[in-house]
Amino acid sequence: MPTSREGHEPDHHPTTTILHRGGGAGDASAGDSGAPPTRQVWVPGPVIVGAGPSGLATAACLKARGVPSLVLEKDPCVAASWRHRTYERLRLHLPRCFCELPLAPFPPGTPPYPTRDQFVAYLDGYARAFGIEPRLGARVRSAAYDAAIGFWRVTVDEDDAEGGGAAATTTEFVSRWLVVATGENAEPAWPEGVEGMDGYRGVAMHTSSYKKGDEFRGKNVLVVGCGNSGMEVSLDLCNNGARASMVVRDKLHVLPREILGISTFGLSVFLLRWLPIKRVDSLLLFFSRLILGDTEKYGLPRPKIGPFQVKSSTGKTPVLDIGALRKIKCGEIKVVPAINRFTGNNGVEFTDGHREDFDAVIFATGYKSNVPSWLKEEEFFSHADGFPRKPFPHSWRGKNGLYAAGFTRKGLMGTSYDAVRIAGDIADQWTEAFASPTAAHRSSDHGA
Ligand SMILES: Cc1cc2nc3c(=O)[nH]c(=O)nc-3n(C[C@H](O)[C@H](O)[C@H](O)COP(=O)(O)OP(=O)(O)OC[C@H]3O[C@@H](n4cnc5c(N)ncnc54)[C@H](O)[C@@H]3O)c2cc1C
Repeated sequence: MPTSREGHEPDHHPTTTILHRGGGAGDASAGDSGAPPTRQVWVPGPVIVGAGPSGLATAACLKARGVPSLVLEKDPCVAASWRHRTYERLRLHLPRCFCELPLAPFPPGTPPYPTRDQFVAYLDGYARAFGIEPRLGARVRSAAYDAAIGFWRVTVDEDDAEGGGAAATTTEFVSRWLVVATGENAEPAWPEGVEGMDGYRGVAMHTSSYKKGDEFRGKNVLVVGCGNSGMEVSLDLCNNGARASMVVRDKLHVLPREILGISTFGLSVFLLRWLPIKRVDSLLLFFSRLILGDTEKYGLPRPKIGPFQVKSSTGKTPVLDIGALRKIKCGEIKVVPAINRFTGNNGVEFTDGHREDFDAVIFATGYKSNVPSWLKEEEFFSHADGFPRKPFPHSWRGKNGLYAAGFTRKGLMGTSYDAVRIAGDIADQWTEAFASPTAAHRSSDHGA
């Protein structure tokens, strides 16, 4: 059955070839569930799932090595999570030199900590500069390796090009290489099993939907979570005239964003080259105490081990303070213990027994990977958390041409590391394939 996109295919994606149209009960490509694909498309280069920084960086590095790729993106734009799931005043947590993607620095004049909009503009420009045209509105429903043919079958639901809303077309892309770039933060994570939460009648939202604080002016707001997002949202609420309380359940390290005018993160990376992690942690804690004071006094107890030891053992990032601590010290942001249960229409009871009504509760409870929901593979990716089983620096390459970009727990620096390595690995196979058409098949079979 011809589809509404049929005539445009070669213009948008010259790397794809339509193999088959029609589908049906007997179609070998019908996938594991749902409707059979309307058509199959062979992709000579890799299929990259996700057009965030990791997908774009991988596509750019591949292009620089002469390898075309097909980028599939469920949203109607690139950098969707930055555009839609962050709030207006957000700035990158790390200085821009740690957030640049490979092969393209930020434009001159970009401040040391770019704003969300500046970062989105950088990503738009990045995609343009490398001629990356993702297939937008293309949600990967499933991807599975077909050992019989040695290719990945990637089943995609695409929005109606005319804006019909519901998924209009199902396509199966067939490729030798699959790059998973759907992000560590694909879906909001909500707390589970909190008594009475369903009965709460105030505004309940995740930080991914938080846009700006002025809609909460004069309101009593509870922020659940005290990582970077929780702190930043509490500060933004406070700056916009809301009364913010922040739940601090676990011990955490708060560090100044800069020490002696140098980015704390940059300084740490430099010091870690010369000193053992414990010494670096001691120095950071010494300066933090000097600059921020004793955070424990304000209800923010520190873990027994230092910030980088915590990071390397649990993946938990220290909070870089951008002003919330000052508000906590003067009581403008109230620190409260963990929630015991929700009570009545708007009430929250805490573990210390006190109870308070809140107009809104904002969950800064993090995000999770969505890989287990669509990737039919469990050797390389764990289905428990949707991350590669092996940690950085071994998290980028699996077997049978499967790759992971941006699952290092190291932010955009990890993204760059992955993109360069993935592109190099695929480009070697690609070159070999041109030299001998059967060779790439062999070389794509080696694992990490
Ligand atoms: C609030 C916030 C601030 C951060 N600040 C920094 C910082 O300052 N510095 C830093 O280094 N890191 C930072 N990070 C961490 C990380 O670098 C970013 O989250 C970054 O966006 C990760 O890029 P990504 O491409 O891996 O994932 P994403 O940006 O999440 O991109 C994944 C893409 O995949 C698409 N997708 C998902 N599922 C499917 C599917 N089934 N089919 C098709 N497409 C799909 C999504 O729509 C999305 O466009 C921050 C993270 C958050 C949440």
